[in-house]
Amino acid sequence: MENGGAAQTAKAEQRYPRGIAYVDGEFVPISEAKISVLDFGFVRSDATYDVVHVWERKFFRLDKHVDRFLASVAKLRMTLPVGRDGLIEILKETVRRSGLDYAYVEMLCTRGVSPTFSRDPRDAVNNFMTFAIPFVWVATAEQRDRGLRLAISQIPRIPPESVDPTVKNYHWLDLISGLFEAYDRGAENVVLVDMAGGVAEGPGFNLFAVKGGRIATPAHGVLHGITRQTCFDLCEELDIPIEARFVSIDEVHDADEVFISSTGGGFMPVTIIDGKPIGNGKPGPVTATLRDLYWAKHDDPAWTVSIDD
Ligand code: PLP
Repeated sequence: MENGGAAQTAKAEQRYPRGIAYVDGEFVPISEAKISVLDFGFVRSDATYDVVHVWERKFFRLDKHVDRFLASVAKLRMTLPVGRDGLIEILKETVRRSGLDYAYVEMLCTRGVSPTFSRDPRDAVNNFMTFAIPFVWVATAEQRDRGLRLAISQIPRIPPESVDPTVKNYHWLDLISGLFEAYDRGAENVVLVDMAGGVAEGPGFNLFAVKGGRIATPAHGVLHGITRQTCFDLCEELDIPIEARFVSIDEVHDADEVFISSTGGGFMPVTIIDGKPIGNGKPGPVTATLRDLYWAKHDDPAWTVSIDD
């Protein structure tokens, strides 16, 4: 029996990253964190979430992630069993118990289960969870160093008239189809377009094009990424002009530099799009300046919260 238990633990360790989750009001190893097959978060993608990272035992821009999560929960007419302070305390405890110094930390709320599986979302009991696993990068070390190879897919991102993209959500089938298309075309990642034919966003990141020292990023139909907001904040500090507006595919192809932004790695260069080099085909100076200041802010108490406080 004991050996069976040990074997099961070893098997779970192969199937899951290290980590801790908070589910049903309890902290459990990530391998034991489960939800019901009847949860509408699973069977309807009726859920919202947020991801904040921990770097050297400090959350980065925690307030902004918590603000966005609470706003998303309210927009979906869900309720959490805890208030803002309780949520922050659970997030800290999740990371502390994980023993991780560098973590990918998710807070999520699903519509939950309805006792009769009725179609009325008001009957369901909302389900709040958190988890912490080792930090996850959107791009590998090699890709961050030499720049990503992206494909622009003609698949439009779900239009904002259908699903509000500022509510961080799991409606990712368009992004996943785009990823497979990108792999088939020899690229490493993908950016989808919007219904007007401009660029939108990719799986887990926003996109930026730099031309003549000015930065542009799509205004509509995208998640308002916290790292995207950080780009605006850092540009103000650095006196770099930046605007959110319609960004055409041609503009992206003709840019001097292109980069992506994500909680999963900050600002990361893109050097090839649709098989053609961007600018001189090397990561550019604007991207490097933003990347360096972004990581420097991880030591600034104004931008961070210790998990031990
Ligand atoms: N766009 C989408 C669809 C995302 O899922 C994410 C993050 O997961 C982003 C953009 C980037 O947002 P953030 O900077 O808050 O990580």
